[in-house]
Amino acid sequence: MDSEKLLAQLHGLKTVFDEKESELTALDREIGDGDHGVNMKRGFNAVNEKVSEGSTKEILKQTGMTLMSSIGGASGPLYGFSFVKMSDAANDEIDADNLAEMLDIFTGTVAEKGKVEGGEKTMYDVISKSAGVLRETGGLKMEDVQKLADDTEDMIATKGRAAYFKEKSKGTVDPGAQSAVYIIHALGEGVG
Ligand code: ADP
Ligand code: MG
Ligand code: MG
Repeated sequence: MDSEKLLAQLHGLKTVFDEKESELTALDREIGDGDHGVNMKRGFNAVNEKVSEGSTKEILKQTGMTLMSSIGGASGPLYGFSFVKMSDAANDEIDADNLAEMLDIFTGTVAEKGKVEGGEKTMYDVISKSAGVLRETGGLKMEDVQKLADDTEDMIATKGRAAYFKEKSKGTVDPGAQSAVYIIHALGEGVG
């Protein structure tokens, strides 16, 4: 994936989040404040408008800065910082090995910023296992990545707003885990 392909994949997420707004809103209504659909839509509409050129590193950095300033809520700084940090590792031509390294950084950044670990029912449960999927299967097939989000359904949330719901957070897929599926799948398509 060169810079042009990366930009196309990130711009494509505008359409994805326009389409998935109601799904993410519905999930966040169950175990949050109901704004995750709007947050992600606003974020990737801004990326589509404002990020238009540069090297792979520059594109990822600008994407992160744009997400940080346009997504309100917990997910904004987590996704935003992660893209900024991933930019350091990106080569001019991102192949599967390089993307796996970037996903390791995505994982480390969310762990650090969110003070989160696996099994707490967050985006981290998808992000932290995605590099393993890529290394094991050679790609990031939608069904494989979706399974990681589906696994959050039976978890009890201990981070973010969903943690207020305690036992009642069980039975709903975490909204951030679901948005992470779309982001990771789009990056994977670029190298597939
Ligand atoms: P807010 O909760 O502020 O309204 P969003 O609705 O946009 O923000 O994002 C909620 C998502 O953010 C959750 O579903 C979860 O995946 C993620 N999240 C919240 N807090 C944390 C955290 N400490 N670590 C990792 N992810 C988190
Ligand atoms: Mg919310
Ligand atoms: Mg909110």
